[in-house]
Amino acid sequence: MGQIQLNQVTKSFGDVQVIPPLDLTIEDGEFTVFVGPSGCGKSTLLRLIAGLEDVSSGMISIDGADQTMTPPAKRGLAMVFQSYALYPHMSVRKNIAFPLRMAKMDQAEIDRRVEGAASVLNLADYLDRRPGQLSGGQRQRVAIGRAIVREPAAFLFDEPLSNLDAALRVGMRLEISELHKRLTTTMIYVTHDQVEAMTMADKIVVLHAGVIEQVGSPLELYRNPRNTFVAGFIGSPK
Ligand code: ADP
Ligand code: MG
Repeated sequence: MGQIQLNQVTKSFGDVQVIPPLDLTIEDGEFTVFVGPSGCGKSTLLRLIAGLEDVSSGMISIDGADQTMTPPAKRGLAMVFQSYALYPHMSVRKNIAFPLRMAKMDQAEIDRRVEGAASVLNLADYLDRRPGQLSGGQRQRVAIGRAIVREPAAFLFDEPLSNLDAALRVGMRLEISELHKRLTTTMIYVTHDQVEAMTMADKIVVLHAGVIEQVGSPLELYRNPRNTFVAGFIGSPK
């Protein structure tokens, strides 16, 4: 389960409306990428879905249930932050277990989930290290592990690779795509990088000043960009 629906969602900060009324359906199991230039509202939209920001109006439902007023921890979604959001003084094991300890989960279940995530992410040999003793890619995997253990209905990524170097970024893109294939859980991935969008997405949502310019598969957008903004941004020959 992991279908997310936005109905006439708007967001204003003070007098400034950064998201005009917006409708969007994200299908269960899809890898959806929000792409657009800096400041177009990608993070705001993701934070609205996560519940980290309140909508100004409109409705957000998850698997058919209205979650507009539900606090973030109760939405069943997991936000993956950049790797620098790890706790430097805690071991990898404790970093990954952190959300489960907060939820007061039973210790045996915590161990089971942490070990499962570590195995999926090739971190089993690193559980007793601290983040400072890991490579950038390993730290990013720990950040993802912290989301996996919650067994969320969807993963939300906000430019998770932007502070990694170019070579590592390519590798982590592949790892996240691979993880999506293995888990088949809904993923929403925010980036301003067209290449990332075109290579990772099942479905791309092109945003421009808070407005959805087009939604489609990478090939659909490439072949049939709706306007010059999409064509220019995606790099279509139009
Ligand atoms: P993106 O992630 O695409 O770069 P954001 O969602 O961060 O864009 O920002 C969209 C717009 O909303 C920008 O104009 C930004 O300045 C504004 N904005 C975002 N968060 C806040 C906030 N907490 N207070 C005021 N304005 C904000
Ligand atoms: Mg952003």
